Amino acid sequence: MKDVWKFARWSSGLSMDLPVDEWKSYVLKKWSLLPLSIQVTVSTAKSLSAIFLQCSSHLQPEDEIFLKRLSSSYLVEKDPDAPLFYREEGNRKFQRKDYKGATVLYSKGISHSRPNTEDISLCYANRSAALFHLGQYEVCLKDIIRAQIHGYPERLQPKMMLRKAECLVALGRLQEANQSIGSRESVITDSRQVRLATGLFPVVSLLNHSCSPNTSVAFINTAATVQASQQIVKGQEILHCYGPHESRMDVAERQQKLRSQYFFECNCPACQNEKHRTTARPRWEAFCCNSCRATMQGDDVLSCGSRSCTESVSRDHLVSRLQGLQRQVGVAQKLLRSGKLEQAIQQLLECQRDAESFLSAEHIVVGRIEDDLAQAYAALGDWGMSATHLQKSLRMVEVRHGPSSIEMGHELFKLAQVFFNGFAIPEALNTIQKAEKVLSVHYGPWNDEIQELQKMKSCLLDLPPIPVGPSV
Ligand SMILES: [Zn+2]
Ligand SMILES: [Zn+2]
Repeated sequence: MKDVWKFARWSSGLSMDLPVDEWKSYVLKKWSLLPLSIQVTVSTAKSLSAIFLQCSSHLQPEDEIFLKRLSSSYLVEKDPDAPLFYREEGNRKFQRKDYKGATVLYSKGISHSRPNTEDISLCYANRSAALFHLGQYEVCLKDIIRAQIHGYPERLQPKMMLRKAECLVALGRLQEANQSIGSRESVITDSRQVRLATGLFPVVSLLNHSCSPNTSVAFINTAATVQASQQIVKGQEILHCYGPHESRMDVAERQQKLRSQYFFECNCPACQNEKHRTTARPRWEAFCCNSCRATMQGDDVLSCGSRSCTESVSRDHLVSRLQGLQRQVGVAQKLLRSGKLEQAIQQLLECQRDAESFLSAEHIVVGRIEDDLAQAYAALGDWGMSATHLQKSLRMVEVRHGPSSIEMGHELFKLAQVFFNGFAIPEALNTIQKAEKVLSVHYGPWNDEIQELQKMKSCLLDLPPIPVGPSV
C-alpha cells in the first residue's frame, strides 16, 4: 500500500503532469525573438551539452522567475526513501527483461540520491546492467565509472568488473578488457579464468581440445596467435584448451563444461588419468601423515600411505583442522594489510608449522602461507627472505598449474621484481628471462608485465660492471 502511494506521488512529481507544454510555448516565443545568427549557432551545435551552454548564456532573470512560478507546486526535493523504491521497481522491470523501463526507474532513483552514497552507486550500477542489455556499451561504461566514483561496495565489485570487461569486448577494446579482468591480485594462485566472449576463428577451430594442451592462444583484436607452450615433436598433434584446463578444474567439472558447450566427451590423457584415479586427490589438496609425512589415503577414514606406518585419522578431523588453519592465515593476512608486519610474520610462521604437520608440501594453503610470507618480507625490505619464500610458493604453482601456465608467469614476474629490488643481478636477469618467456606465450608484447620486465632488464644491463677479483 505504502509503495503504491509513494509511486503515485513520485510519478506525478517527476513526469506525468509536468508543465511541459507551458514551458514549450514559452521557449518557442523566446526562440522566435532571438537574432538569426544566434539561432544558427545553437541549431548547428555539435552536442547536447554545447546546445545547453549556448542556451544558458541567453537566460534572463525573467526566465528564472517564470521557471520558479511553473515549478512552485511540484516536489523538487530529494526524497530519502525514493532511491530504494525506484531501484526495486527497476529490478522488477529488469527481471521481466524490460530494460528500457528499468533504465528510466534507475534514473529516477539516481535523481533522488545524494552523492557518494551506496544508494546512488547501486542505482548507477544497476542502470549499467540494463544499458548493457540494451547494447549501449559506451554509456554502460560511463555508468560503471560513476558507480565507482560514488563508492560502489567492494563485495559487489567482481560482478561489475566482469560487465566492464564484457562491454570492452563488445566494443572491440580487447586489450583493455584483458587488463580490466587480469589486474593482478596478491595471491596469484587464486586468479580465475572468466569466459568473456565467443569469437569465430575458422582455422584455430581446427585444433582439437586437450585439458593439458601444448599451445596457448592469445588474441590481438580480431587476430588469434597460437604459440607452443612446450616442446612439440614432429608428427605430434597440436592441441589447445577450449577453456576447461586440468589445473583449474577437476575432471567432472571439465567433462560437464565440454559436454554442455562443445558436445563431446573428452578423452585427453589428463582426463583418462584422473578418471582412473579413483580415490587419490591432487597433491595440492592432499593431507599427509603426522608421523612419517607420507600422503594419507582413503575416503572417510584416512590411513598413511606408507606400509611401515599405522597412522590413521578421520577426514572430518583433518578438514576441521584445515578450516582452523585457514582462519589463522586470515588473521595473519589482516595483520599484513594493516602494516603490522612483524606480527604477521610470527603468525604466518606458526601457521606454517601447523600446516607442515598435516598438509602435503604442495598444498594450496602451504603455498598461500609462503606467498604471504614473501609479501611481508618484501614490505620490510628484506628481499633475500622474500625471494626464499616466493621460490617455495613458485614451486607449488608449478606443480598445480604447470611450468608454462599464466599463473607461473605472474609468480615469476613477482620473483623478478624481488630479485631486482634486492640487486641480486644474475638471479634477476635469469628470472626476467623465464618470466618473459612464459608471459609472452599468453600475452602479446604490449602486456604491462612484459614491458616492465624489459625495463628492469635494460636497467640491470646498464649498471656499471662489478669488479671481479681478489678484494685485498
Ligand atoms: Zn580432457
Ligand atoms: Zn605415516
